[in-house]
Amino acid sequence: MSNRTFTIIKPEVVAKGFEGKVLDAFSERGFRVVALKKTQFSLEQASRFYAIHKDRPFFQGLLKYITSSPVVVAILEKENAVQDFRKLIGSTNPAEAEEGTIRKKFGSNIEQNAVHGSDSDENAQIEGSYFFSLFEQY
Ligand code: ATP
Ligand code: MG
Repeated sequence: MSNRTFTIIKPEVVAKGFEGKVLDAFSERGFRVVALKKTQFSLEQASRFYAIHKDRPFFQGLLKYITSSPVVVAILEKENAVQDFRKLIGSTNPAEAEEGTIRKKFGSNIEQNAVHGSDSDENAQIEGSYFFSLFEQY
C-alpha cells in the first residue's frame, strides 16, 4: 500500500473555474497536495496517458476531450491514497456515482466526469512521473 495517488481535474471543471472547489474537497477528505500545476495535454501525451483504452470505441472522443482545454494535475498524499481517492471520486459514470462523491457533484456525463484517479500504486507512480520531477514533489 502506497500513500500517494495522481489526479487530473478535467477540462470542463477547470473551464468553469471550479478547480479550487475540487481541491478543497480533496483536502477536506485528508489528501495533502505533494505537487500541483495547470497544464494542457498534447495529443501525444493524451494518447500515451490513455493507451490502455486505445481499442475502446470512446478513445478518439476521450483524446479530443482531454486535450480540449487546460487541466490541473496533482500528486496527493494520504494513507491508503489510491483506494480512498477512488472512493471519494465515485463511479466513472456520474449518474451512477454515490451522493457526496466528486463525480456526483461536478461530473456531467460518463466522458466528462470531472476528475481522474489512479487505479493502482504502480500507475500512480507512473502517471505522477509524467508531470512532476522528484524536485517538484514536496
Ligand atoms: P479515470 O481513469 O479517468 O480515473 P475511470 O478509471 O473511472 O476513470 P476508465 O475506464 O479508466 O474509468 O476510463 C477513462 C476515462 O475514459 C473516463 O474517466 C472517462 O472520461 C472516459 N470513458 C470511460 N468510459 C467511457 C464511455 N463508455 N464513454 C465515453 N467516455 C468514457
Ligand atoms: Mg481509469
